[in-house]
Amino acid sequence: MGRIRQQDIEIQRKRLAREQGTIRKDWGGRLPIALCYPNSYAIGMCNLGFQSVYSLFNSAREFVCERVFAEPVLIGSRSAGRGDWTGDDGYRVEGRLEALGEPLSVESQRPLGDFAVVAFSLSFELDYFNIGDVLRRAGIAPLAADRVETDPIIIAGGPAVSGNPEPVAPMLDAVVVGEVEPIVAGLQEVFLGGGSRADQLARLARLPGVYIPANYAIGYAPDGTIERVTPADAEVALPVARLNARNVNDFHTMSAVLSPDIELGDMFLVEMTRGCARGCRFCLAGYTSLPVRHRHVDHLIQAVEQGRRLRKRIGLISAATSDHPQLEQLLARMLEVGADVSLSSLRIDRISPFLVEALVRSGTRTITLAPEAGSQRMRDVINKRLTHEQIVHAAELAGRGGIPRIKLYFIVGLPGETDDDVRELAALSAEILERAREHHRGARVAVNLSPHVPKAQTAFQWEAMENVETSTQRIKLVQRALGPLGIDVRFEAPAAQRVQAILARGDRRLAPVLLDTQRLQQFELNLRKHGLDPDFYLGSMDPNGIMPWSLVSTGVPEWYLKQEFGRARGLGGQEIPMLDLPPKAAAVVEAARLAGSAA
Ligand code: SF4
Repeated sequence: MGRIRQQDIEIQRKRLAREQGTIRKDWGGRLPIALCYPNSYAIGMCNLGFQSVYSLFNSAREFVCERVFAEPVLIGSRSAGRGDWTGDDGYRVEGRLEALGEPLSVESQRPLGDFAVVAFSLSFELDYFNIGDVLRRAGIAPLAADRVETDPIIIAGGPAVSGNPEPVAPMLDAVVVGEVEPIVAGLQEVFLGGGSRADQLARLARLPGVYIPANYAIGYAPDGTIERVTPADAEVALPVARLNARNVNDFHTMSAVLSPDIELGDMFLVEMTRGCARGCRFCLAGYTSLPVRHRHVDHLIQAVEQGRRLRKRIGLISAATSDHPQLEQLLARMLEVGADVSLSSLRIDRISPFLVEALVRSGTRTITLAPEAGSQRMRDVINKRLTHEQIVHAAELAGRGGIPRIKLYFIVGLPGETDDDVRELAALSAEILERAREHHRGARVAVNLSPHVPKAQTAFQWEAMENVETSTQRIKLVQRALGPLGIDVRFEAPAAQRVQAILARGDRRLAPVLLDTQRLQQFELNLRKHGLDPDFYLGSMDPNGIMPWSLVSTGVPEWYLKQEFGRARGLGGQEIPMLDLPPKAAAVVEAARLAGSAA
């Protein structure tokens, strides 16, 4: 166990003093929950899901929920070395290494052992490395099987574990699959009902959307694939179905605590919509957040007005902000109440002169566009239904409307991609710069490249990840083509994306490896030490096999994912394995294959 250090108490107090909206409740007679974001304060506080669960738990009179962050974070992962410990840019990794006290809550500076429940918010796979560290420093056994009666119950939720909880399943007593709103009353009943850990876990297992990893035994075949999943008894659900809030107009999802010490410190965040139905075949958010649920404008304006009292800039958040059917009406009303608007995700085919004007009036100087792929062929493969003309037109609208900087997001290493597709990506970026400059002489373009990570629960879940050498070579190809034009090309490191890919489709044998890894760079070496082969997790997988994440279900049927996988393969001219599809889906795949071979 770590020590409770005065300097850590001071850090939390300093943060508290600079925050607005902190919820402070008396502990008397209440059940204490530590809501833990396993990364730094600066990153966790920008996460609207984390903030909304904080409000939600605290809205229950019988709960008191306090925030805990995982500092120091794993060396080499997101945010390491970015000076986000205290908001002090001078802070360095070496400083973090010295910071080995016990994790403390921000609100009352209590250690995790004082809480009845520890709830991890898991949005990103690389945060998994910090879970074991937080628990160990708090004196809590990192593996659920080793916990004793006096330990808190360790639960988790969030997009990453709702898609595939398995790599961290052995560390967790329970996982909430999907959205938390529908289950708060059930959690209250279980936790306030008391009883032993075993009693509480048995009651949790009966709640919809709750996955108890210890209730399932996994059998592996000699080649490492999963042979069988055996539930503990006939009452245990298999798979555990994802929870979704029904009427998003019954509640607000918005910033709870504001702090000047984080990247989005000048912004109040409001969630507009849940879900995205565009069906991009690589996208975890798209497949796991259906159905699409828009909030009404009147409802959103209430949240905007509340936020406007605290911040001038309001950030509208959703997977596809510009798909809201009344977006223009909402923006007009936001400008009327004096708010500056920031949009988290603009769909290229929804950009209009009005939208650009609203952004310019709000002080926006950079617009982010995500064509994802440079060639029409690859956009068809990934189901990004955008034409070349639509993309270039969006850039023109931005330039004409007075936005001088355009950021473009592309994925490299997509299934079936060739060097020619990547050359088209570079040519498209160059054309966008040229068109934007026709309207705005000082226009600038920056390109961000992200090596593709095949994610569980998507149509690409069975695809192999492109190897590091090819991805690196394609990134260099883009740099060489665009550097001379003054286009800044940034990229996610292919090696770090590999680690993310292993975790995204991993099974529960990865948990001990996570617990043994202190530096991201050691992970693959440690995998081998544990007798596991990184390429097993990075290669293509059998569409008819049992996947580790088959224990949970997002509601999208497997035949549909197979159909989309087959369509992508067909359109890309790639081989299509036996998919065992219903007749209509098989016909859809065959039509794609014919279209792909005719192209
Ligand atoms: S990439 Fe964007 S548009 Fe496509 S499904 Fe995902 S959230 Fe929707």
